[in-house]
Amino acid sequence: MELSPKNSPNRPKPLEYTRNIGISAHIDAGKTTCSERILFYSGVVHKIGEVHEGSATTDWMEQERERGITITSSAISCHWTTKKGPFANIEHQINLIDTPGHVDFTAEVERSLRVLDGAVAVFCAVAGVQPQSETVWRQMNKYHVPRIAFINKMDRTGADFYGAVEDIKTKLEGNPHPLYLPIGAEDKFKGLIDLVSMKAYIYDENDPMGVKFDTVEIPAEYKEKAEQYRAELIEAVADFDDAIMERFLEGETNFTEDEIRIGIRKATMSLKFVGVIPGSAFKNKGVQMLMDSVVDYLPSPLDVPPIRAYGENDEDTPSLEIVSDDFAPTTALAFKLWSDPFIGKLVFIRVYSGCVKKGMQIYNPRSRKLERISRLVIMKADKRDDIEEAYSGSICAIIGAKDIVTGDTLCEKDHEVRLEPPTFPEPVISMSIEPKSKADQEKLSIGLQRLAEEDPTFVVTTDQDTGQTLISGMGELHLDIIRDRLFREFKVEADAGKPQIAYRETITAPADGVGKFVRQSGGRGQYGHAEIKIEPLEKGKHYEFVNEIVGGVIPKEYIKPTEEGIKEAMLNGVVAGYPVVDVKVRLVFGSFHEVDSSEMAFKMAGIFAFKDAMKNASPILLEPIMKVEVTTPDEYQGDIMGDINRRRGQIQGMESKGNVTTIKATIPLETMFGYATDIRSLSSGRASYSMEPSHFEQVPNAVLKQVQEGVAKKAARR
Ligand code: GDP
Repeated sequence: MELSPKNSPNRPKPLEYTRNIGISAHIDAGKTTCSERILFYSGVVHKIGEVHEGSATTDWMEQERERGITITSSAISCHWTTKKGPFANIEHQINLIDTPGHVDFTAEVERSLRVLDGAVAVFCAVAGVQPQSETVWRQMNKYHVPRIAFINKMDRTGADFYGAVEDIKTKLEGNPHPLYLPIGAEDKFKGLIDLVSMKAYIYDENDPMGVKFDTVEIPAEYKEKAEQYRAELIEAVADFDDAIMERFLEGETNFTEDEIRIGIRKATMSLKFVGVIPGSAFKNKGVQMLMDSVVDYLPSPLDVPPIRAYGENDEDTPSLEIVSDDFAPTTALAFKLWSDPFIGKLVFIRVYSGCVKKGMQIYNPRSRKLERISRLVIMKADKRDDIEEAYSGSICAIIGAKDIVTGDTLCEKDHEVRLEPPTFPEPVISMSIEPKSKADQEKLSIGLQRLAEEDPTFVVTTDQDTGQTLISGMGELHLDIIRDRLFREFKVEADAGKPQIAYRETITAPADGVGKFVRQSGGRGQYGHAEIKIEPLEKGKHYEFVNEIVGGVIPKEYIKPTEEGIKEAMLNGVVAGYPVVDVKVRLVFGSFHEVDSSEMAFKMAGIFAFKDAMKNASPILLEPIMKVEVTTPDEYQGDIMGDINRRRGQIQGMESKGNVTTIKATIPLETMFGYATDIRSLSSGRASYSMEPSHFEQVPNAVLKQVQEGVAKKAARR
């Protein structure tokens, strides 16, 4: 294969032989186990063949489980070489990027999806498509991530490969086609049939680590089935490969293995085809075939469309495209921060173009500062390798960065770009937090600040009424994990208050506001005067500020302080004191005094102007609405639906399968506290549910009154 001229001769692996992939799964489907096995077979954690006996095996696995946190926390690099196909005998660099599986971490999933080029979706062969896999799948569609599916746990009782494939078709509206078929299932799951080479791989019973398998003829009882699935595979692939299509229409069936592989690769890239592989990570089967497929079918950084970026003067629309090219100006995205107990803060970056070098100064357009890269590493399970430079398409980590937070772009000072910032959902829940021992107050603050830097959906604020520290996030579990990390990583034990709804406020009409801060009786006075116009902004855009001052009626140096005042006022809206979102503010007029004006006076003018405008802009209170999916035996369906109605929920759809019904609904979070217990008693413990944030909606009047009364009471208690 001819390599692209975008490759620097100094890079360790050409772009063509790089795969940045994510592994996603519903919780417990086996993502961690799969990742561990990938590291094992690729020789990162233990040289293959070092583990001889069953006992050593379990030991090793237990250790790995302990380390699971590190392994799946970020991005791990390994190498893989396939033996067949167009990439045969070429060592590939594979970067595994973790995509969290739990519903509370939707934002983290979105963030990691931005930096990967392809993904493996892991499903459980028994449970098939579960609600969270559905969410991640849809997000992958949104970010145009080509993927392959691994149907894991083929060894479990009730494993049904073909059922899971069908599930992908019906529930996810995907176009799944097996690349391999399983030989046997449950405790008789022995190996896989390769539908491209038409060979069978049977794992060696005497090698529990699954390193050895025999390549044999397809067993007679599977021949017909394999022929049928291979024909279907070729027909499906033909849709995406003109050369195959032409010959296929002429009745030809005799395609070479490589022709089919190239066809599958094209089909996968089109996003309209998903290859499916059966396996059991736990029983060490199918992982090598999965890795071969990652190399053969998932894109390299050169195969994906360029990413859009904002130039220095772009306001709303990104005008630049960043292409993987080692010779272009350097552009990288900080996608994850991780506090390592041993070496401190790690900033994971994806280099999109150019090269990040140890010792270089890199520019951060957000902070407008240069940052020196003192150490650069790639992660290999529990160890890290220092590297000198990282070229386009690489994933690596910076150690010792001072002021880089998740979502920052890093670039060259004279080539300023901002990569499109991911949109993060608003937190939906908050609770007060305080250290068990007063002496820990400072440690708590440091820990909270560090964790908030890592995670843009986790927010720390101070309650204006009570002075307490408030933490806000995407769900109770999210905040529990934060407390757990405070304890484990920062050694602070913290008490948390009852979870509260994180309401938001917004406006529904445009309005004008005037803010004057004038104190001019005797001595040096104060003078600030600002006039603004506000209007509703598109949902999720949070805030936009436009300076329309002409003729210097507010001098340049007072514009920023005025904006700061506006932003401060937005932290506490006029409806019930909650943060205000989705407002566009235009600063249109004002005046100043030669002597008495100051930054402080204009900040106050900004605060007053915003409060004044908001009062006239038909402000409303918004509450978080959750997307809830309940799966229940039919006999409890009526009770559960009645209960959803009582919770102000709206049924969005229902689906029956056998005698089990899945109910989809949107329900205000306010009514969902304690739902786990309630649904258990409603269904004698037989129904289950999942829940994730959906959107914000205006609260009904009765609820608004309650919220306002609650706020008033809290203020009175002070
Ligand atoms: P994750 O939550 O998706 O990361 O899932 P884990 O990898 O932690 O696996 C969840 C549980 O399923 C663990 O107890 C694993 O040992 C088990 N598990 C994972 N893969 C398999 C498999 O292939 N077969 C069986 N029987 N169990 C598995």
